[in-house]
Amino acid sequence: MITTRRTLILEELGLLPRWVPRTKASDAVEPPDSSSAAVPSQVPGPPLARAEHLLSSNAALPPLTHPATSGEVDTAQPVAHMSWPDLKEAVRGCTACPLYANRKQTVFGVGDERADWLFVGEGPGAEEDARGEPFVGQAGKLLDNMLAAIGIKRGNDVYIANVVKCRPPGNRVPEASEAARCEPFLTRQIALIQPKMIIALGKTAASNLLGTEASIGSLRGRLHDFHGTALLVTYHPAYLLRNLPDKAKAWEDLCLARDTMQRLKSAQAAPK
Ligand code: URA
Repeated sequence: MITTRRTLILEELGLLPRWVPRTKASDAVEPPDSSSAAVPSQVPGPPLARAEHLLSSNAALPPLTHPATSGEVDTAQPVAHMSWPDLKEAVRGCTACPLYANRKQTVFGVGDERADWLFVGEGPGAEEDARGEPFVGQAGKLLDNMLAAIGIKRGNDVYIANVVKCRPPGNRVPEASEAARCEPFLTRQIALIQPKMIIALGKTAASNLLGTEASIGSLRGRLHDFHGTALLVTYHPAYLLRNLPDKAKAWEDLCLARDTMQRLKSAQAAPK
């Protein structure tokens, strides 16, 4: 048997010999317990029809507004129009929520600023806080392998960001109020990047991007609509490190993502 790099990666992910990549995204099935009613999915129809429609309407996001409560400065409005340098500066100096007090540094995001792929995690851990880059610890290694398994690479048509830009103490889940204060930054990153597809890694990313408390199990395996951009939910790499059997489901999600991206790119390349 010829051992390719891909085979090695799949073995490392624990996905071989059992799991064979699907070739058709149309194989994707909606899980019976899907809770699409809770999800702002504006385009009806099967996932690919929806994604192709999403491509043709992939306009910049409408700015989200966050009415400031009395006495607070509303940062959402200026952030919604910032350039990359201004946005980076704003994140570096942000003190809008208590997370700033314990950070070594902010973790803005990394990668190709015009990437087709955007991966969104929860928030920096200790290593990310020390190095200033998302997903550089153990979970990051797995994420890099997941990217490689579908033929993409950090920094190369891929951008990686988090819901919150400062490390929550003890790696706890960010509070809703912390995520809300940080949301304009991620929203602006998305508007500047204009990705073709967003992959929400884990519950924090999925809930904050889709505005739902539905479980990953019910959200994964199908496409969602994030203000006109295709969004797919899958398990967070840190969760997968602790729950090896769910790697197979993550692999299915990645295959759907890869196939959908191919379809989106072909639809864009096709003469009108
Ligand atoms: N987990 C995340 O969600 N983000 C990181 O950057 C690292 C770990």
